[in-house]
Amino acid sequence: MAVTRTFSIIKPDATRRNLTGGVTKLLEEAGLRVVASKRIQLSQEQAEGFYAVHKERPFFNDLVSFMISGPVVVQVLEGEDAVKTNRDVMGATNPADAAEGTIRKTFAESIEANSVHGSDSEENAAIEIAYFFKPEEIVG
Ligand code: ADP
Ligand code: MG
Repeated sequence: MAVTRTFSIIKPDATRRNLTGGVTKLLEEAGLRVVASKRIQLSQEQAEGFYAVHKERPFFNDLVSFMISGPVVVQVLEGEDAVKTNRDVMGATNPADAAEGTIRKTFAESIEANSVHGSDSEENAAIEIAYFFKPEEIVG
């Protein structure tokens, strides 16, 4: 399996509870390496653009409000089959369904405030990485 990259966000519910390190520790223990990271405040336009794929979903407006409710940490992660490795350690979208030891089971507050985002495909990973990072900001 090849070493690849994925995109991660530590969401406002986690930064608010000072869990940046706790979440990152679980990512690292899963075999992922943080090759770019920055703490930012998303604008409404950035959050709407990032989640544009969900704009017809009933939870879209609440999701955007949540994602701009505090700082987030955007990260590029590198590792073996990074998209799947990250999705596995994240756990299910709804923490009630997430497996023991996953980030969402350990930390998430709700199906919305679920502590992390992770790309769902290699194609989306490339798009999402480029949305937040210039190539020279990523150092593997
Ligand atoms: P995932 O983050 O696991 O890939 P989705 O892409 O389906 O999940 O949804 C994006 C985000 O929207 C979720 O992480 C969560 O924050 C929010 N969300 C998803 N489903 C719901 C829902 N039914 N109610 C409220 N928020 C939701
Ligand atoms: Mg998704």
